[in-house]
Amino acid sequence: MRVVDFRSDTVTKPTPEMRHAMAVAEVGDDVLGEDPTVNRLEALAAEMLGKEAALFVASGTMGNLVAILAQCGRGDEVIMGDRTHIFNGEGGGASTLGGVALHPLGNDHRGMIDPDDVETAIRAGNIHYSPTKLVALENTHNSCGGAVLTQEDVKSVADVARAHEIPVHVDGARLFNAAVYLEAPVAELVRDVDTVTFCLSKGLSAPVGSVLCGPRKTIDEARRWRKILGAGMRQVGIVAAAGIVALQTMVHRLAEDHVNAARLARGLRGIPGIEIDPETLPTNLVFFKVTVDSPMEIVERLAESGVRVFARHPMWRMVTHSDITTDDIDYALDVIESTFREHATA
Ligand SMILES: *Cc1c(COP(=O)(O)O)cnc(C)c1O
Repeated sequence: MRVVDFRSDTVTKPTPEMRHAMAVAEVGDDVLGEDPTVNRLEALAAEMLGKEAALFVASGTMGNLVAILAQCGRGDEVIMGDRTHIFNGEGGGASTLGGVALHPLGNDHRGMIDPDDVETAIRAGNIHYSPTKLVALENTHNSCGGAVLTQEDVKSVADVARAHEIPVHVDGARLFNAAVYLEAPVAELVRDVDTVTFCLSKGLSAPVGSVLCGPRKTIDEARRWRKILGAGMRQVGIVAAAGIVALQTMVHRLAEDHVNAARLARGLRGIPGIEIDPETLPTNLVFFKVTVDSPMEIVERLAESGVRVFARHPMWRMVTHSDITTDDIDYALDVIESTFREHATA
């Protein structure tokens, strides 16, 4: 059966070139800093993002966590949007493991937090407060429909934080989607922030891993936290090798995913029972509202036809990625349209 899996870009499989690079990767003990392939990936990532140093980590969640642990202590707090992955999708790890408080501010529909709100929220110098030690942004913004923050957006928040000598972190799980969308160098997008995490395992299609980039001192501290968390891995160059291929070969093609997402969104717009905001579809995440009775029956019907979607009712999400072609989009639209029509008349 033809299967088109739109649930996430995390389902992407490594390319043949990645598998080859993994097979022949030169390796060493990375805890001792002796894995040449990991060192090469970290140097490449730091260079592409315009940062001093980088750290290969197991996941985006770990990248955000060690970034927070490296910059905040017990009783400190981090400011972030209330729709961010750090606030909603990481098990409260910073609080659980680091005693760090999460201080959420309202995200607007574009994934931004208001710099004035940040100014008001920053706290220090009073024993009643948990002092603010970090401000975090997310780009692209997952739950805001893959919305893109521009360099000016990022700078407007960073300027406020920096006036208080507070560092800024970007959860850039899909940062390269933002850069490709804006047709801007990725380094420019993060030039005003201190630390940034991006995922190799999403649209860039590597099997495992994320990278945290930032100042050497912060990265050294994050490396200590990674060890404490039990993720000091040994001959992990076998995995990092795929990450290098991801950065070298999979960035520019993200534009295809954006074109496919726009095609998907256009096609979905005409289907009765689906409501989709035409304004919020800039990258590879297509969110829409489903307004039929018993929607989970449709999810199952679709899966039986090989079209897999992520449904957290009433919002559904479909993600385009390297394992989905334009022809797959047209196939899926046909299946979705007929399934919704049959469901309406059943
Ligand atoms: C996926 C994602 C993460 C976490 O990545 P994992 O590798 O799944 O831990 C972090 N932030 C955002 C915005 C994400 O979409």
